[in-house]
Amino acid sequence: STKPGRTILASSVSNTYADEITSKVESLRKERPNGPLLVGFLANNDPAAEMYANWTSKTCESMGFRYELRRVEEKDFLEEAIIEANRDNAVDGIMVYFPVFGNAQDQYLQQVVSREKDVEGLNHVYYQNMYHNIRYLDDEQQLKSILPCTPLAVVKIMEYLKIYNSLLPQGNRLYGKKCVVVNRSEIVGRPLSALLANDGAIVYSVDINNIQKFTRGEGLKFQKHQVEDLGPFSNEMLKECCADADVIITGVPSESYKFPTEYIKEGAVCINFSSHKNFDESVKSKASLYVPSTGKVTISMLLRNMLRLVENRQKMNLL
Ligand code: NAD
Repeated sequence: STKPGRTILASSVSNTYADEITSKVESLRKERPNGPLLVGFLANNDPAAEMYANWTSKTCESMGFRYELRRVEEKDFLEEAIIEANRDNAVDGIMVYFPVFGNAQDQYLQQVVSREKDVEGLNHVYYQNMYHNIRYLDDEQQLKSILPCTPLAVVKIMEYLKIYNSLLPQGNRLYGKKCVVVNRSEIVGRPLSALLANDGAIVYSVDINNIQKFTRGEGLKFQKHQVEDLGPFSNEMLKECCADADVIITGVPSESYKFPTEYIKEGAVCINFSSHKNFDESVKSKASLYVPSTGKVTISMLLRNMLRLVENRQKMNLL
């Protein structure tokens, strides 16, 4: 059968970052002869987290990093374990596999990870900078702020797919693009919608409850995105948002959820970051480019964030 478009695998995108990452690791040989050390904390029995940890470990080792998985059997000891890694100068990056408690305590634990070692970019300061479209941590613009790695991975995928128009000024490269993001979690969907809107897109942010519109206003007059409530979720409204959407991004954590193919505009780009396949096979009859998963790019961004953190610590004379 002839399909009009193409399926693009995450590995094609992550491969384009391999050289940049390995050569940076190489340049750190003096400080870190055995490679920078990433520590992952696993305190749940989630097989998806276990798989992700496995992948992270393999990718790390193939690119000259060291990876250490620390299993914490008793959830209540996790905080102490993180604090110990914060203090340990041999540790360059820390990540925690969430959910741990599955409630607000997880947000607290996110903030326990030292900002200087937070490879996932979940620290409040990083989030606030991202939402406010601020790229540096300092007035001298020496220390780059970190972006949360899954939203960043989706942005990098969109750059690879040439949805970002490099002829436009930096910061406006999504001007005129319409995107739908089905997920508004604090970890992925909301920051992703903000990033895309900050870059000039009109973003329809969809969750179970309602649909919101993120934009920088008419003529991109605002410096950062604004949010408007469009109303409670309905299939009619979702369909309307999709009618002229150039990009549809899904992240619904459910096996049974399938995005309605009939809502996709012919030639739209479809990207799924959920660990479940949110599009069924028929997406290929509509999408120009279809990216079925993003995990490999997320790991590349994790390692890239880690190198940025090491650079920041060097500049602050903390290494
Ligand atoms: P979450 O449960 O915190 O958020 C789910 C979001 O989807 C919520 O905003 C919810 O309202 C929305 N949603 C659920 N069902 C919906 C529906 N039928 N219609 C519209 N919106 C709906 O989950 P999360 O942490 O954001 O993770 C989501 C998925 O992404 C999971 O499968 C997770 O494994 C995956 N994930 C992937 C990566 C990666 O790198 N690829 C990283 C993090 C998470």
